[in-house]
Amino acid sequence: MTAAVDVRDVEHVYGTGRGAVTALGPISLTVEAGSFLVLVGASGCGKSTLLRLIAGFERPTAGTVRIGGREPVPGRGAAVVFQQPRLFPWKTVGGNVDLALRYARVPRPERARRIPELLERVGLHDVAERRTWQISGGQQQRVAIARALAGEEGLLLLDEPFAALDALTRERLQEDLRHVIATSGRTCVFVTHSVDEAVFLGSRVVVLTRRPGRIALDLDVGLPRTGVEPDRLRALPEYAALRATVGQAVRSAAEDISD
Ligand code: ADP
Ligand code: MG
Repeated sequence: MTAAVDVRDVEHVYGTGRGAVTALGPISLTVEAGSFLVLVGASGCGKSTLLRLIAGFERPTAGTVRIGGREPVPGRGAAVVFQQPRLFPWKTVGGNVDLALRYARVPRPERARRIPELLERVGLHDVAERRTWQISGGQQQRVAIARALAGEEGLLLLDEPFAALDALTRERLQEDLRHVIATSGRTCVFVTHSVDEAVFLGSRVVVLTRRPGRIALDLDVGLPRTGVEPDRLRALPEYAALRATVGQAVRSAAEDISD
């Protein structure tokens, strides 16, 4: 498979002079097309910085980032989902998805057909006409995912999208996202500080060290991507073993104060 994302010798520094903060790197990472990469690490280790560099919201202080061989441009090449859904409150649920389809230059008749289809895909039924503040936080985040799926972008970047949700809702969204991505052929880079979420979602898990974030562990998960019920997946012995390995790496990365 070809690499969807290529991060090479990247370092990122915020500010200058005595106030400068080295947030990330040096780090090199290639993400194969169709893979679900989860970045996990302690708060402040540079996960969001790396995602923002891939999205093209920032340019690296050193090194290069490429998406499909090109320099990233915000709003092109990758769709981004944040911790807060960031929906437009003056639009209906369907209107929010419609906006994304319009941005992707989908003609009107096709948009009318695709709005309910996209909402169904993320598990939402009969909410297209509602206002965004008339649905729950979990449903709002589902709309944000539907919106990210509306475009042609092969790459989805998600920055702790489920962190603000209650445990049960979070599990449901994890299950649905895992399924949606596995059946969509898209590439995903997902940021979390939850070990459990990382192992459940990722086809590959990368643990970052403390700031400045570098790679502490890079692990192929190897659990089945489709055809296994989420509860059965979570009950597999391999699942427990992976959780232990990743958990251990996250803990020792957080304790490492060698520099
Ligand atoms: P994470 O997402 O892993 O919690 P971030 O990438 O947000 O970490 O931040 C990494 C480090 O960079 C932190 O120490 C943070 O305080 C610092 N940082 C992030 N954004 C900025 C900014 N715009 N200006 C200065 N420092 C920043
Ligand atoms: Mg962050």
